[in-house]
Amino acid sequence: MHDYIESIPDFPEEGIIFRDITPLLANGPAYHQATEQIAHFAKERGVTVVVAPESRGFLVGAPVAENLGLGLVPARKAGKLPRKTLAETYQLEYGSAQLEMHVDAIKPGDKVVITDDLLATGGTIEATIKLVEALGGEVVGLAFFIELTALKGRDRLKGYDIYTLMTY
Ligand code: 5GP
Repeated sequence: MHDYIESIPDFPEEGIIFRDITPLLANGPAYHQATEQIAHFAKERGVTVVVAPESRGFLVGAPVAENLGLGLVPARKAGKLPRKTLAETYQLEYGSAQLEMHVDAIKPGDKVVITDDLLATGGTIEATIKLVEALGGEVVGLAFFIELTALKGRDRLKGYDIYTLMTY
């Protein structure tokens, strides 16, 4: 599966190696296999709804939800959702960002799998977990195409069941 990830040096800034998932998305069988594996992981954990942070998380979560016949709930960047929301602010390398979910997006007893393309420091997913749990959901799994092990997202997300297809 690593064959479908392009590593781009010095993007978006010097010293960063960006892992580009667009070749994986562009290859039908590879994209299908990747999301199928995550759907299998999610099903085994009794998932009832898939939650995905904007925007590359949607590219993983939407096919997984569709595969399992489940709903998809987006966690969106600030100001995008039209109804009453709950917001969570989190730190980026420079500055901060905010994710929001509609307050009625999670039903009591929901078992949630959260998906994103890549796990780095875990900040994005930690913010998403906080929203899901505040809305009454149980997070039964976290799934990613890629994990950057040096950034220790797993340590930050201790206690959660994490599934990744590839590590760098
Ligand atoms: P974290 O919050 O875990 O530090 O960063 C993960 C988030 O940043 C993910 O939502 C992911 O889309 C984005 N991200 C960070 N580095 C990369 C990268 O090298 N490649 C891709 N595709 N996304 C990245």
